[in-house]
Amino acid sequence: MVDLTRRFDVLVIGGGNAALCAAISARRAGASVLVLEGAPKFYRGGNTRHTRNMRCAHDAATEILTGPYTEEEFWKDLLLVTGGQTDEELARFMIHESKDILNWIVEQGVRWQPSLGGTLSLGRTNSFFLGGGRAMLNALYRTAEELGVDILYDAEVIDLTIEHGMFLAAQLKQPVGGRTEVRASTLVAAAGGFEANIEWLKEYWGEAADNFLIRGTPYNRGAILKMLLAKGVQEIGDPTQCHAVAIDARAPKFDGGIITRHDSVVFGIVVNKHAERFYDEGEDIWPKRYAIWGRLVAAQPDQIAYIIFDSTVVTSFMPTLFPPIAGSTIAELAGKLELDATALEKTITEFNAAVQPGTFDHTILDDCRTEGVTPAKTHWARRIETPPYLAYPVRPGITFTYLGTRVNKQSRMLMKDGKPSANMFAAGEIMAGNVLGKGYAAGIGMTIGSVFGRVAGREAAKNARN
Ligand SMILES: Cc1cc2nc3c(=O)[nH]c(=O)nc-3n(C[C@H](O)[C@H](O)[C@H](O)COP(=O)(O)OP(=O)(O)OC[C@H]3O[C@@H](n4cnc5c(N)ncnc54)[C@H](O)[C@@H]3O)c2cc1C
Repeated sequence: MVDLTRRFDVLVIGGGNAALCAAISARRAGASVLVLEGAPKFYRGGNTRHTRNMRCAHDAATEILTGPYTEEEFWKDLLLVTGGQTDEELARFMIHESKDILNWIVEQGVRWQPSLGGTLSLGRTNSFFLGGGRAMLNALYRTAEELGVDILYDAEVIDLTIEHGMFLAAQLKQPVGGRTEVRASTLVAAAGGFEANIEWLKEYWGEAADNFLIRGTPYNRGAILKMLLAKGVQEIGDPTQCHAVAIDARAPKFDGGIITRHDSVVFGIVVNKHAERFYDEGEDIWPKRYAIWGRLVAAQPDQIAYIIFDSTVVTSFMPTLFPPIAGSTIAELAGKLELDATALEKTITEFNAAVQPGTFDHTILDDCRTEGVTPAKTHWARRIETPPYLAYPVRPGITFTYLGTRVNKQSRMLMKDGKPSANMFAAGEIMAGNVLGKGYAAGIGMTIGSVFGRVAGREAAKNARN
């Protein structure tokens, strides 16, 4: 039974990777810590439950990583995917700290396993959690509990008392026990983005947001972010920017997780509801491009698109939960997809005619490309000509949003006047926009949560003791 009448040194709001890293780090620094997780215990851990890997810099191959991935290379990758929209000081700090996280996270009970193969191409850069995100979380929870961190589930924070940039108390709502005020010397906000709040998404995306599927937890509704911004914390990031991938249109509205994601784009073409191609499916190596396809589909009429390929490539990518829709002719496939058969036949005929000879290799930017068709497919272009013809319907799958709270290198929130908050810190998705102005490279979400979570916990503990 957690004693809510006491004043804690550190209050952590959230129950995912960022929250647990902060809680463990604060507790190890000697602070009393309370974690408030809005979800019931079974669903604890937000989007972290769905993760598989984390991107960390390292100077040499490890037991599970096939080669070095230097700080400079990580920085260049981040610059590329964000188009320079990143805070260089914070990003370089995160990358530098990520080196240490590889070992620190193991000290907290998490185990690594070698990379998955297929189209991921992450064996050198990303460390995979043994047993996936759930197992990773279970290890962090176990460690937190052993260290004496107090944890409450079904504990939604519905209000924050903040005066002149100083956190005083949180209002907690529980199914049993009703409303309670919780007091603490410092706050670590690690409550995720606002991706599960369709009404908030609609403010920027309009009615299109009704067609978005949310890949992760329904509990990340952005209430804490909204409160912080309303109470004087400086915001960072473009509210329309988010990590969004193409996921199967048959996936559930929330929490479909990784098994609904399609990694087959580079093996075929993608058409909209008018059976027209709209983007270069072979622009770059898949881990650097998979995260643009959600936004691309979101920009199409009715937010729907179809990945089309043929039987020759069906074993080339990781299978998803949903089987492909098949047709022995293009016209039959079009009928099943409710697309105009003539239009689809025309698109595929033109594409096939534009394919140039080359040597296919999906692990490099190969020379299989089109000529004379718009948009071009610049790599991995091969004719779609061997039946059965196959398709996956896809919709935008929102992973997480980038609008967040501005922080400094101590993970301390900055107020609108530019001054650091007296006692408020943030980690994870809720401050991801500091590093990710736009774009994404696989595994950075967990790096942001682990690095800034660990820092936030340590700094909050220090702050509470002073
Ligand atoms: C399907 C999927 C796969 C992914 N795979 C990867 C991957 O392999 N590698 C990677 O780096 N990233 C991946 N990501 C992104 C990654 O999940 C996030 O970047 C990361 O988990 C964010 O951690 P977090 O702690 O900030 O947020 P979360 O883990 O989402 O935790 C937020 C927590 O806040 C709680 N909360 C929200 N509001 C309140 C409130 N008002 N009161 C109390 N609690 C509240 C939620 O219940 C939740 O526990 C994936 C995401 C998805 C959806």
